[in-house]
Amino acid sequence: MGLLEKKNALVFGLANDKSIAWGITQAFHREGANIGISYAGEMLERRVKPLAEQVDCKWVEECDITKDEDIAATVEKAAKHFGKIDVLVHSIAYAGREELSKPFYETSRDGFKTAMEISVFSLVALSNAFLPLFNPGASIMSMTYYGSVKVAPHYNVMGVAKAALESSTRYLAHDLGPQKIRVNAISAGPIRTLAAAGVGGFRDMYKHFADMAPMRENVTIEDVGNSAVFLASDLSSHITGEVLYVDSGFNIMGVQLGMKEEKGEG
Ligand code: NAD
Repeated sequence: MGLLEKKNALVFGLANDKSIAWGITQAFHREGANIGISYAGEMLERRVKPLAEQVDCKWVEECDITKDEDIAATVEKAAKHFGKIDVLVHSIAYAGREELSKPFYETSRDGFKTAMEISVFSLVALSNAFLPLFNPGASIMSMTYYGSVKVAPHYNVMGVAKAALESSTRYLAHDLGPQKIRVNAISAGPIRTLAAAGVGGFRDMYKHFADMAPMRENVTIEDVGNSAVFLASDLSSHITGEVLYVDSGFNIMGVQLGMKEEKGEG
């Protein structure tokens, strides 16, 4: 029996088969969840619908997270189709490409607002809107990155947004705890996706990651998917407000000496 049998899980943020949301969706399907998928914009429909078919997903709905009416309509459709919800995955972020290549101090007012609205407020808005549908024991999770706590050059306003996302995770966990709804975040190592392509210097960061991480390996959307299963399942029943690092241990490193020696190059 799968770990997510009889659970209704909604996944927001599927763009294509490289998306972290796809790794999560596949892992949820493997574990027996009944899945709903939400995506943004008609442009993505032709990519998302065939993926949804692969996981027997009958509920595929468009929702632009910046529009309250879209969110309200999505809740209504979910209520009709699923009744109650056990898992909500927020795998959404956006910042203008120009904000992720120039110096952080040149971040524009609009660029700052957009990044915060799409990457952070959307988690708050979704949690609020879906509140009437959550079963006790429900699990909400979002995707974050280490650039929230340390400087990752070029990550800029997204780093600030991820810090706010992690803080929002704690405030939501506090508010929703009495209703037995858990809220956590997964902090994933760099993965080649559409969103990542917009971050200046991502290729270098990706390349050097494995040299610096204790496990000497990059992480995959499958790795994130498996950890998401844990957070979605009853195995994590009393874990809330946490940031779970899925990064081959990268975040524990303080000093990056000795790697070459260990590889016999130094
Ligand atoms: P992705 O491009 O596949 O996913 C980003 C998603 O955000 C897309 O599906 C996009 O449609 C959606 N989105 C953007 N604006 C939206 C809007 N207005 N309404 C609704 N949806 C909107 O890239 P990804 O890397 O899979 O990103 C998923 C999450 O993982 C993001 O929060 C990202 O910051 C986070 N993350 C990514 C990495 C990485 O290296 N790729 C590492 C850590 C965390």
